[in-house]
Amino acid sequence: MKIGVDIDGVVCDLITTVCQRINDKYEVMYTPDDIQEWHQPLCINGLTLEQAVRDTLLDDNYRPRPYPDAWMGLKTLLYRRHSLVFITSRKDSADIKKTTALWCMMHSPPRVDIPIIHTNNKSEVPVDILIEDNIDTAKDFAETGRHVIVMVRPWNEKYAWDKDLYLSTPYIHFAKGWRRVIAEIDDL
Ligand SMILES: [Mg+2]
Repeated sequence: MKIGVDIDGVVCDLITTVCQRINDKYEVMYTPDDIQEWHQPLCINGLTLEQAVRDTLLDDNYRPRPYPDAWMGLKTLLYRRHSLVFITSRKDSADIKKTTALWCMMHSPPRVDIPIIHTNNKSEVPVDILIEDNIDTAKDFAETGRHVIVMVRPWNEKYAWDKDLYLSTPYIHFAKGWRRVIAEIDDL
């Protein structure tokens, strides 16, 4: 199957690096558990999370790490003969595109070139399954009648227990960690 893989929050632990950077720069003490949603205002001179993310991506002194199990996850999906494409809503500017391409190349399994699609509408991308951490994106994708695996993170954990959401569609699956993601996909 063709599987779309979101980058941030799924393979790239960007939020930990964003927290490190704002803590260093502004002498605050954010942890990933403090980040609950994308449009959250930070308690720093009007700085938004969106801006903090962009600043971090363009700061060579701060290099986000992949989640420790992400490499195994990508490799297993490839081994199962799925074809993968990274789908990201990171801004489509030349500098962000370059940073993203370099990061994905460095952290993908060797000799594998996983294409990258930058888009604000992941539902439009012709993939069979999406692996995603943003709950709104996941809901939109599920409405197209395709399966979405929601990677459980601190900012979406509450939805994993939301029975109304869980029962409203057979297309949304929650998975904590890459091993569970693989198991969910194997079950489809
Ligand atoms: Mg994401």
